[in-house]
Amino acid sequence: MTVELRARRATVAIPAVLALSAGLLGAASADDPQDSEVSASANARKSKGYNILSKDEGYPYIARWNPCQKIHYKINARKSPRAGFVKDTLKAVKRLHRASGLRFTYQGRTKTVPNIHSPKRYKGKTDLVIAWTTPKKRQVLKNLGGWGGGYWWRVSKRTGKFTKGWVLLNSKYRYKYPKGFGKGPRGGYGTRGQLLMHELGHSMGLAHVERRSEIMFHYTYRRKAKWGNGDRKGLRKVGQPAGCIRSKAPNSAPVRSANPHEYADQG
Ligand SMILES: [Zn+2]
Repeated sequence: MTVELRARRATVAIPAVLALSAGLLGAASADDPQDSEVSASANARKSKGYNILSKDEGYPYIARWNPCQKIHYKINARKSPRAGFVKDTLKAVKRLHRASGLRFTYQGRTKTVPNIHSPKRYKGKTDLVIAWTTPKKRQVLKNLGGWGGGYWWRVSKRTGKFTKGWVLLNSKYRYKYPKGFGKGPRGGYGTRGQLLMHELGHSMGLAHVERRSEIMFHYTYRRKAKWGNGDRKGLRKVGQPAGCIRSKAPNSAPVRSANPHEYADQG
């Protein structure tokens, strides 16, 4: 009984990480928390430790960043509820680099809050923006801890190329993620490091998995923040081992990942 209660609380309260749809959130609070977490598609995915975002959204190709170009990123920490955010972000990006081989260049602070409804690129050289904001300003964050994603173009039969990425973090979220990459407090749902790694995973082209041992699991929970084996496999699929993307000219309309109406992320 106690265990069941705890499990339920974990699923309900943690819509921290991503963008869970209202429906899914409702399901997560259903009487039997175990059943509610498992859907038909979830079962199909269960055996894999990773999922590719573009495939998860029904496209036949893998959308990823070009590993032969540096990814320039900026941080907007103006609404960060806690200090030390830049430090944690640099560390999370370093971990991402180590697991994927993708290369990143920190371009400093910005006031930009990514517009996830526009494929228009950021000013200057920026490719990726990691920003705190409020659900009032970005409705997609309602009831969520964060939302990671991006825009890509299909450049060949098998490949899509990311051209813009974002991580949005909810500064009004009910669980205040403590800094660092440890387990976080008892009764809590992990740390800011776990949240950051999860959302960055989305912005690199990974989708959710059903395995609790992966960072790309649907929810954050009390655990040390470190990539699981599946996360690492997935990051190699969208990372440097996948090879350069040579095509410059997009041959499709831009596709936005994590459409709030069809793709929900929570965490
Ligand atoms: Zn997520």
